[in-house]
Amino acid sequence: MGLAEEFPNIVKSQVPLAPYTRLKIGGVADYVAEPDSIEQLSKLIQACKRDKIPFRVLGGGANVLIREQPVAGLIVRLVKPEFTKIEIHGKIVKAGGGANLADVVAQTCLCGLAGFESLVGISATVGGALRTNAGDKLGEVSEPVLRVHVLDDAGQIAKRERSEIRFGEHVSDLDDPVILSVEFALENDQISSITKRMRRAWVYRKAEEPLGFTAAVRVFKNPPMKSAASLIVKANLRQARFGAAEVHYRNPNYIVVTKGATSQDVLGLVNMIRDKVKTETGIVLEQELKVW
Ligand SMILES: Cc1cc2nc3c(=O)[nH]c(=O)nc-3n(C[C@H](O)[C@H](O)[C@H](O)COP(=O)(O)OP(=O)(O)OC[C@H]3O[C@@H](n4cnc5c(N)ncnc54)[C@H](O)[C@@H]3O)c2cc1C
Repeated sequence: MGLAEEFPNIVKSQVPLAPYTRLKIGGVADYVAEPDSIEQLSKLIQACKRDKIPFRVLGGGANVLIREQPVAGLIVRLVKPEFTKIEIHGKIVKAGGGANLADVVAQTCLCGLAGFESLVGISATVGGALRTNAGDKLGEVSEPVLRVHVLDDAGQIAKRERSEIRFGEHVSDLDDPVILSVEFALENDQISSITKRMRRAWVYRKAEEPLGFTAAVRVFKNPPMKSAASLIVKANLRQARFGAAEVHYRNPNYIVVTKGATSQDVLGLVNMIRDKVKTETGIVLEQELKVW
């Protein structure tokens, strides 16, 4: 029996993934599930483990490129209310793994809670943001983390305290299959002061990133003490194209795509950048963009 027969109300087979990603391109997944409860999600993990089916959670799809070829296994979307709740008790905020980071930023600001304002404008769910330690030099999502609630490999609920998790620039070592929710400890501040800092972060981000483009992704990690964007400029690749994929003119560490683009175009451009940067600078760029 396949997963769609075993979980008929929550699993669909042969589902196009493009609409669920920022680039809006790519192929079909074997299975996509939108569970209603933690119990259902736990059973899905156990069934995948039993049948040796790959299991992955897709957040907002801002850091993922879907290939044209079928994506094997089960893709889970945490879009039901159980996984998108945001609860605020005093200075403690608990946000579901599927909650929109922008909603957390807005709600905490309205409650006079500081700590998230530098994350304004980042396209992410809370789970995706945690996994990739979203942020920049103004601040990272890991900074106010108290603890993370996860489902482990066996589908059991577990807690990961902040001190157990290692966060780096755009990475964390959290490798449980599901980030269920995250507890953050924020600080009280005047709403006007928070908004002022938020505006500054927004201006900075808008100047640095292709926020106007819906179809954009950031591609490489910054090598130690270097910027991937500067290395790409040094390799003369500003606005380089491959098919319908183009290096963004403002920040060359982003690829934007135009109508008719395929995943092959994006991958072709990624490989072209990596090869040319290596030839011109001797540095091998490490990919941040996940390819499924
Ligand atoms: C225009 C643009 C600007 C950006 N600016 C920034 C920026 O300033 N700073 C920055 O850090 N990033 C930035 N990014 C990258 C992106 O926004 C972040 O990487 C973001 O954290 C991705 O979140 P997501 O929910 O879309 O995750 P996805 O892309 O869906 O997934 C990313 C990874 O997290 C995993 N994952 C997602 N949710 C869960 C969960 N609940 N449990 C377990 N695993 C999970 C996925 O399996 C995948 O491995 C930008 C991207 C774009 C397109």
